[in-house]
This record gives sequence, C-alpha cells and structure tokens, in this order.
Amino acid sequence: MGRIQLNDVTKSFGDTQVIPPLNLTIEDGEFTVFVGPSGCGKSTLLRLIAGLEDITSGAIEIDGTDATSTPPAKRGLAMVFQSYALYPHMSVRKNIAFPLRMAKMDAAEITRRVEGAASVLNLTDYLDRRPGQLSGGQRQRVAIGRAIVREPAAFLFDEPLSNLDAALRVGMRLEISELHKRLATTMIYVTHDQVEAMTMADKIVVLRAGHIEQVGSPLELYRAPRNTFVAGFIGSPK
Ligand code: ADP
Ligand code: MG
Repeated sequence: MGRIQLNDVTKSFGDTQVIPPLNLTIEDGEFTVFVGPSGCGKSTLLRLIAGLEDITSGAIEIDGTDATSTPPAKRGLAMVFQSYALYPHMSVRKNIAFPLRMAKMDAAEITRRVEGAASVLNLTDYLDRRPGQLSGGQRQRVAIGRAIVREPAAFLFDEPLSNLDAALRVGMRLEISELHKRLATTMIYVTHDQVEAMTMADKIVVLRAGHIEQVGSPLELYRAPRNTFVAGFIGSPK
C-alpha cells in the first residue's frame, strides 16, 4: 500500500508561506514526478510528506490514516538521497543494512533483505567494497538499496541523479523505471529536468511558487498544457 493524500497542506518558514494550501492525491503504485523551477518548493513538499519538516496546517494521510503527526521512521516511506550521502568508511553491505540495524532488526532478516536488494540492483559482487571503490551509478544503486531494504510503502526521490554525468543519468533513469515496474510501489520523484519528468512519470505535478499549476499524465500535459508556464516547462509547442 502507498496511497498518499495531502489535504489543504501549507508550509511557512517564519512569516513566509512557501506552500499555499495544497491538495494532492498520489495513488498506490503510481510513479509521480514533481517538476518545477529551482525554489518552487519541490524539496519542501517531499520533506513534508516524509515528515522531515512539520506542516504548518492541513493534514497528510497515508493509506487512509492520518499521518500528520507520525514521526518519519513510522510513516513507512523511504527517502532516497543522492549517492554522496553514503558512509565512506562502511562497506556496501553495511551501508545498505544501516537503516535496518538502526531499527534493531534481527540479523538473519537483515542479511536476507540486503542480499535481496543487492540482487535486484546488480550489486551482489560489490557488497564488501566501500563506496569509494564503486562507479557513480553503483553508488547511486547503493543509495536506492538502502531504501529498498526497508520495504517502504513509497519511495521518495529528491533529484537523485543530479550529480551524475549525462550518460549515466540516462541509464539510471531506465533502472529506476525498471525498479518501479518490478516493485510496483508508489514512487515520488522530484526533478527540475523536463526529460526525466516526461519519460519516467505516470503522473506529473507541475509546481510554481509552491502551488500546483497542473497535474496530468505526460501526454495530457503535452497535448493540453493549461498555460504558457506549463507549456514552457514541458517543452511543448504551444
Ligand atoms: P526546490 O526544491 O523546488 O528548489 P525548496 O523546497 O528547496 O525548492 O524551497 C522552496 C522555498 O522555500 C524557497 O524559497 C526556499 O528558499 C524556502 N526554504 C526551503 N527550506 C527552508 C528553510 N529551512 N528555511 C527557510 N526557507 C526555506
Ligand atoms: Mg530541491
């Protein structure tokens, strides 16, 4: 399960409201992309969903249950950070196992999950290496592995590929799309890159200054952008 609903969610930092009342439903299993220019509130929105920031007003529901006050570790969601968030002194195995060790999971279950994730991500032969001995793409896979082992209801990605070079980015996009097909788990993917949005999304949420300009499938946004801002962002001819 992984249905996420935002009901009249707002966020202010001090006197500045960066998210005006926002309503959005993300269906279970959907690959949703938040797209918009730098500073429009993509990361803030993701952090509110993850519980890393408190909302100022409104409510967040996960699978029909109010999760507004639920701490991040209990929301059943896993944030995927850029690969430089790995621990350089730990092996791949220990990096992937880290959230499970924190949760004091049984050692045999940790091994089972880490090896399962490594197999899905083609990292089986690299479990004893350290991040510094891996390629950029492999490091990003380790960061994804750390989320997979938690068996989350949803994955939250915040521009995970932005520090990879262009060729690697194309490959990793495909890998993440494949992973979504394979796991059939809700994924929310933040990017300012139109190509990522158009090629990866089931549903695109176009954000501007904290509010939603338009929500739709890539084809819907391409065929019928609501205004020139959406058209410009999606790269359609209108
Ligand atoms: P994006 O991820 O789309 O680039 P952010 O969500 O990081 O945008 O930022 C949205 C707005 O909120 C920006 O104006 C940013 O300066 C502001 N903001 C984000 N985090 C904080 C914070 N911790 N304190 C104050 N302002 C913040
Ligand atoms: Mg951001």
